[in-house]
Amino acid sequence: MPGFELMGPEELKEVMEVMETGILMRYGFDNERKGVFKVRQFEEEFARYCGAGYALGVTSGSSALKIALTALDVGPGDEVLVPAFTFLATWEAVLEVGAVPVLTDIDETLNMDPADMERKISPYTKAAIPVHMCGSGARIDKVLDVARRHNLLVLEDNAQGCGGSFSGKKLGTFGDMGIFSFDYYKTMTTGEGGMVITNSETLYHRSDEYHDHGHDHNPKVSRAMEGRSILGFNYRMNELQGALGLAQLRKLDTMIAEQRKNKAAIKALLSGVKGVKFRDLPDPQGDTATFLAFNLPDEGAAEKFQQALGAGGVDTVCYKRNAWHYLPNWEHFLSQSTANSKKFPFTNPMNRRTVRYERQDIPQAEDLLGRTLVMGINIRMPEERLATIRQAIEKAADVL
Ligand SMILES: *Cc1c(COP(=O)(O)O)cnc(C)c1O
Repeated sequence: MPGFELMGPEELKEVMEVMETGILMRYGFDNERKGVFKVRQFEEEFARYCGAGYALGVTSGSSALKIALTALDVGPGDEVLVPAFTFLATWEAVLEVGAVPVLTDIDETLNMDPADMERKISPYTKAAIPVHMCGSGARIDKVLDVARRHNLLVLEDNAQGCGGSFSGKKLGTFGDMGIFSFDYYKTMTTGEGGMVITNSETLYHRSDEYHDHGHDHNPKVSRAMEGRSILGFNYRMNELQGALGLAQLRKLDTMIAEQRKNKAAIKALLSGVKGVKFRDLPDPQGDTATFLAFNLPDEGAAEKFQQALGAGGVDTVCYKRNAWHYLPNWEHFLSQSTANSKKFPFTNPMNRRTVRYERQDIPQAEDLLGRTLVMGINIRMPEERLATIRQAIEKAADVL
């Protein structure tokens, strides 16, 4: 599942090259840094890997979402379509830019349902954030279709699908912008970190300036003399993260290949179990295989099967009961418990209508997530581990 399984001499070598200069910041210190620009190099290699025009390294996937929404000029008065099933950060980012997130259902891919996305559009909808959850893509072709017909911007949250693709094109490159997370749980990791990608020079420059207090990064003048046209903040990636990212990126295809092999082995074991159906993958070739998701006919069966697997030493997640990845469980969001006492932006007078967040508006998520179990796939799976999984599945099959 995560790149931390392969933290090794390659990462150490990259990090040491930074330590030898002592320059931890990506900007400035041109004489002292002896030609070492790890973040810049990571961005170049990442953009090339994805087939994107531009990449910007930032502090996290969460800040990448905020930066991209800001670059797209999504703000107060705008509505953004967000799936019910995603990590909370996708929703928080919309609030961070002062916009209103709108609840969208998922389909059998466990990602945004293009049909429901179309139903949830209002005159105020400016953008949609399809999320490629658990290593596999949304029906991104259909999402783009709907977006084009309604003139919506698309930001792909690909925090969990780094290296994945659809029809041979990398996830994150379909929308106007795409973001990635390199936090410690993600497929490749820099401890904390994120990336924004786009093919638009304008959106890249807006992101670049916003993420560093407006600095235009004019190479012809010193940092102190750089120009600025918009206000920003600080979401700069540092050189140690850039170094780690370079080493991890070079391992990404190997990680995905290993995960695919391991996932296929476990899938083969589960396919013999009566009632088990697998998650719908829009393009199985493009699956990063960080997770295996399967469902049972009803919640009762799923719960029994999950308990039996757990007793056999194999953990799975039922996301309907997960505290951080399913909107109906976010009591602090539903009660508008913002850190500011004014409940902004829920109370923003520029909001044009009251939007509701109710289970009845996401019937497919309610159904699917209640009877779907998700298993993390490791990069390293020794023979003994596979044997444990085999035994656990055989025993669990008896309780159905
Ligand atoms: C992890 C994650 C994020 C946020 O990334 P961080 O780097 O942890 O801030 C955003 N969206 C999704 C779907 C994620 O899984």
